[in-house]
Amino acid sequence: MTVPTDGATVAPVPFDSRQFRMTMGKFATGVTIVTTYHEGQSHGMTANSFLSVSLDPPLVLVSVAARARLHALLAPGCRYGVSVLADDQEALSRHFAGRPIEGLHIPFVWQHGVPLIDNALAHVVARVVDAHPAGDHTLYIGQVEYLASRDGPPLLFFAGKYGRMETVSDAGAEGPFWYLW
Ligand SMILES: Cc1cc2nc3c(=O)[nH]c(=O)nc-3n(C[C@H](O)[C@H](O)[C@H](O)COP(=O)(O)OP(=O)(O)OC[C@H]3O[C@@H](n4cnc5c(N)ncnc54)[C@H](O)[C@@H]3O)c2cc1C
Repeated sequence: MTVPTDGATVAPVPFDSRQFRMTMGKFATGVTIVTTYHEGQSHGMTANSFLSVSLDPPLVLVSVAARARLHALLAPGCRYGVSVLADDQEALSRHFAGRPIEGLHIPFVWQHGVPLIDNALAHVVARVVDAHPAGDHTLYIGQVEYLASRDGPPLLFFAGKYGRMETVSDAGAEGPFWYLW
């Protein structure tokens, strides 16, 4: 039996963590870099667990592993930034996922005291209003204080690989449609 954080017991699961990761990897996502500024230091981490939660009030969420350095830097009241990466920003995703790239220029811009990745497709700054421990991660719910976005193709993540969208013109339809690969 495993014991979740709320103290309830649950039956053992009939699959291993590799199968869990493989199955969840079939959910294609964008890629973000979640950033914060703490005691004079900027910190960023690649994350694809970002989602919008509520329109009124505007809430977003990111799930951060308890072992991540970012985890120790986030708490209710502090702010985090989310930069949604464009398809030419894969190197930044790899860098902020713990595979540092020597000499890589980190193009930070600042909003509300939080660093964000310059030229990302979207920027969000949120103040943490709730932190829910969930297994080996914590869900950080943030109230959005700043938003900006631009047009352009996103960086994608699917089945453990990076991908790009392709514009396919359908002669029978109006305008371009976006397809995955
Ligand atoms: C596509 C993808 C999605 C992911 N999604 C999630 C997720 O949703 N949740 C999750 O918990 N993990 C996720 N991860 C894993 C996570 O990105 C890594 O485990 C990461 O290394 C954890 O970061 P950390 O906070 O422990 O910091 P570290 O591993 O110490 O740092 C991350 C990297 O960022 C660099 N870095 C940090 N701050 C700066 C700075 N100011 N200037 C320059 N470089 C800096 C560091 O040099 C290091 O290379 C994902 C990984 C990938 C590839």
